[in-house]
Amino acid sequence: MSAAGADSPGAGADPSAVLRVSVAGKTYRPKGLEPVEAVRDLAFSVRAGEIVCLIGPSGAGKTTTLRILLGLDTDFTGAVAGAEQAGIVFQEPRLLPWRSVEHNVRLGLPRGKRRRDLDALFERLSLTPWRSRFPGALSLGMQRRVALARALAGSPRVLVLDEPFVSLDDAAAAELRALVVDTVDAAGMSVLMVTHNVGEAIQIADRLLLVSRRPATLVADIALGRPRPARDRAWADATRTSLAGRHPEVIAD
Ligand code: ADP
Ligand code: MG
Repeated sequence: MSAAGADSPGAGADPSAVLRVSVAGKTYRPKGLEPVEAVRDLAFSVRAGEIVCLIGPSGAGKTTTLRILLGLDTDFTGAVAGAEQAGIVFQEPRLLPWRSVEHNVRLGLPRGKRRRDLDALFERLSLTPWRSRFPGALSLGMQRRVALARALAGSPRVLVLDEPFVSLDDAAAAELRALVVDTVDAAGMSVLMVTHNVGEAIQIADRLLLVSRRPATLVADIALGRPRPARDRAWADATRTSLAGRHPEVIAD
């Protein structure tokens, strides 16, 4: 059976899904080099209000999958739906260095909405004092916050994050993570986050999608069950050990 069967058969048609992706295949064909098969039979959906973490080895095809589902790469076989409702935070903050923080955030909005009131958003992300500063004056953690603000400015239904807390120290990552969770919960937004950090995923996700090494294929779709506020250290450790036992190829102990 194809790996697409690992997702429930009806998932592609789930009416409560805000984002749906079904990639039969994606192969890069760089000129003069061997083709690279990046994704094969990878299908899943993200439902309203749900936080979903996609976990897989480095080089598996995770960023490729995000680019496809966002409509940034159309050279694949399969189908996607919901991209127009997504706000995106890439691994690199991708800010324009010659524009202020405020301007960078507003550039995430469609032209007609650039003047909208963003006071509450800047305040929530503790960016108010930095609005007129330039990205070069900011730490990586603050730059990530600006990238997050830019993604949130248009009030998307789903926030898509590609390894957003990488290279931050533990405290800065934890702070930003809590900020993301509080913000999306308050807004009833969904999240699809790619992460390497299994502990982080277990803390914040409602559901985990595990993908194989390249070509990325769905290995498991796991609902974590326990409500987020009730997740203590012992539960997280036990969950991780059990996952590592069942999927050692994706999750190291
Ligand atoms: P991940 O995000 O899981 O680390 P990527 O989706 O970035 O992985 O990449 C998957 C594979 O596709 C890697 O082997 C990468 O080198 C290759 N790849 C990514 N982008 C391109 C490209 N534009 N041309 C050729 N190969 C690419
Ligand atoms: Mg990547």
